[in-house]
Amino acid sequence: MGSEAAMVLEAADFAARKHKGQRRKDPEGTPFINHPIGVARILAHEAGVTDVVVLQAALLHDTVEDTDATFAEIAERFGEEVRGVVEEVTDDKRLPKMERKRLQVERAAGSSRRAKLVRLADKLHNLRDLSRRAPEGWSPERVQEYFRWAAQVVAGLRGTSPPLEAALQRLFEERGLAPGGPGPGP
Ligand code: NDP
Ligand code: ZN
Repeated sequence: MGSEAAMVLEAADFAARKHKGQRRKDPEGTPFINHPIGVARILAHEAGVTDVVVLQAALLHDTVEDTDATFAEIAERFGEEVRGVVEEVTDDKRLPKMERKRLQVERAAGSSRRAKLVRLADKLHNLRDLSRRAPEGWSPERVQEYFRWAAQVVAGLRGTSPPLEAALQRLFEERGLAPGGPGPGP
């Protein structure tokens, strides 16, 4: 086994190859890989995470959901612990979109601490992206609806990382939302 830095780089390289050619939904068409790298960076830089399993899972968190990568492949290359965390943060694509979103809210509180960390950083990165520029075709109402849903998920992730939760709380408050609460009506 290589050094911890080598293990993290291996996950970054795997994710970059799997997400090759994919773009984010922002109007600039940012390369998709900027997102998992950004999520891992938030964990290292803002949450002080040094657990390599969490950093690798962050880099890999969208590979099974959005590419041809499989859990077996993740387990073989990165081990069962990383596979387990990636599995916890992967939506079941066979389910309708709204059901997947409901399940994220329902399952947040019962997930492992490692999965909660990845989820918090994932939500923070997505909400920061949305705050900067809405994707093409998204109305302000749709953006607000996304924030409202994210606040419900984050409510189930509380007690995991004070700095990430504080950063998310500020974003929600800017929009008149309290995590978990229904927020003020329209
Ligand atoms: P989507 O699930 O369609 O898109 C949000 C997801 O896209 C994020 O969770 C993130 O996932 C990824 N993403 C890629 N680029 C960005 C970016 N720049 N900023 C933030 N996230 C990005 O959004 P909704 O939750 O709004 O929609 C869910 C379903 O409802 C869809 O089927 C949609 O078509 C439908 N719909 C909803 C409307 C609404 O008002 N909510 C209106 C019309 C349709 P990841 O981290 O996995 O990359
Ligand atoms: Zn993501």
